[in-house]
Amino acid sequence: MVLSTDGAVSGFADLGLRPELLQALSGLGYEEPTPIQREAIPLLLQRRDLMGQAATGTGKTAAFALPVLQRMPDGDRGVGPAALVLVPTRELAMQVSQAFHRYGRELGVRVLPIYGGQPIGRQLQALRRGVDVVVATPGRALDHLARESLHLEDVEAVVLDEADEMLDMGFIEDIEVILQATPGERQTVLFSATLPPRIEGLAGRHLRDPVRIQMGREAAPPGEAPLVRQSAYMVARPHKAAALGRVLDVEAPAAAIVFCRTRNEVDELTEILNGRGYRAEALHGGMSQEQRDRVMGRLRSGTAELLIATDVAARGLDIEQLTHVVNYNAPSAPDTYVHRVGRVGRAGREGVAITLAEPREHRMIKAIERATNQQIPVQQVPTVADLRTRRLEMLRAALEESLMEDDLDHFRVVAEPLAEEFDVMELALAAVKLAYESSGAVTDEEEIPQITPRLEQPPRSRRGGRPPRRGRSSPSGMARLFFSLGRGAGIRPQDLVGAIAGESGLSGRDIGAIQIADRFSLVEVPESAADHVIAALRGSTIKGRKATVRRERYPSDR
Ligand code: AMP
Repeated sequence: MVLSTDGAVSGFADLGLRPELLQALSGLGYEEPTPIQREAIPLLLQRRDLMGQAATGTGKTAAFALPVLQRMPDGDRGVGPAALVLVPTRELAMQVSQAFHRYGRELGVRVLPIYGGQPIGRQLQALRRGVDVVVATPGRALDHLARESLHLEDVEAVVLDEADEMLDMGFIEDIEVILQATPGERQTVLFSATLPPRIEGLAGRHLRDPVRIQMGREAAPPGEAPLVRQSAYMVARPHKAAALGRVLDVEAPAAAIVFCRTRNEVDELTEILNGRGYRAEALHGGMSQEQRDRVMGRLRSGTAELLIATDVAARGLDIEQLTHVVNYNAPSAPDTYVHRVGRVGRAGREGVAITLAEPREHRMIKAIERATNQQIPVQQVPTVADLRTRRLEMLRAALEESLMEDDLDHFRVVAEPLAEEFDVMELALAAVKLAYESSGAVTDEEEIPQITPRLEQPPRSRRGGRPPRRGRSSPSGMARLFFSLGRGAGIRPQDLVGAIAGESGLSGRDIGAIQIADRFSLVEVPESAADHVIAALRGSTIKGRKATVRRERYPSDR
């Protein structure tokens, strides 16, 4: 397979996207559309209404952004937006706006995020100057409608992104009012991770004969399941490279392939891993056949141990020695996961599949579990102490091996005189220390916060009223609490759950994600119970230590 740089985006060209968009995608290092993009983009280009079940990580943002950008006129554009995207949170409004900017760079698209908490003056000014795409939270969009600063008469496309989250946050009435203010002949697109009856109702009222796309419903492929040990690690984005390094240190794979989303990510990660002392080789669609052959040769001969690759570049490769498959991100569809993992565990040997996912991608892990009918246990990223233990174990094994061999004689000149002067045990310890230090072990003391995924769906607000939108409530109605005790105080997730449940009467099931850092912990509890939990824990102790509990000062990662 020969892939040229241009050929790399041909998957997108086949979907009928204009050259400016193809150029932007190529610059971002995207090599091919994700499954949801492949399905949704052609339909959206035909101006069909669409209802898609897709969670974060599937590439849904580009799936709706690219068709919107496709029809941006080259010449004069109106003042009012041609597209309106409604999202549940400020963070998502910013992310989606950035995505429009990145994809629409060559088109000079004017994108404006609109959300509460930002001074309204700046938004008013930008709206007056003219915008092409508005990405808004429903509350703030409604404010602007009431002020008559937002005009929706020219809107051709409306996207409801993470619709289930918006309904959970009590935005349903706002959404209805906003949709009434848009032209009846608009195109309407709804994306939602789940499709409860309330979403069906909303779609029934506002979408016209929508096509439906469901991601993550594929059945497990027929045939024998490969012999693979699977696990996942939940890691926040800034800690991903460090977490990967640490997992690799503990796993010590003989030959692993690490899958990345984009060419750019492949290059960055290869550099980082080489910096950590791994022999990593990049493989992506921007490389010539000759370069690719050279890389494969190095992996086969054992000169390289890690292959960092995109799906496109790794397609059709058969690597006999492969022991580990690593997903550096949640894959964009369960099918992709199955294909990747199918590369190990063949011929009766046990393979290992490891997936790093950001907390907001936890749904994709669940979708993969459903599709493959297999469990993917979520594990804690090895701690510095785990790593040290593992390295000492390996050193002990190496020493044992060395003792079995009988080529130790010419070290006598060093050991014997020292043995007369020092205790033999002391001497052995000093030698072990030197061996440990010279084994090239990277002394990595970086803090990687532990994240425990939600075991259950977070509780949904069932009240008729609207839960508070301001403050730090997350889209699922959860608030994050800061605890002044962390790993350093021996705190484990079950200690926090026990203390909260014991003091506040909350059930363990109501408690969301838990992150434990060295000196503090963060715990998600339902927004409606947050103040009660804080009051209940006042003056109490956890593991014999007094804990300060308050709302977290920084917004959550959504
Ligand atoms: P989303 O599900 O929209 O949040 O996208 C998840 C991530 O995938 C984002 O970081 C996107 O930049 C990235 N992404 C989206 N489409 C593609 C693609 N076709 N190839 C590579 N990366 C992509």
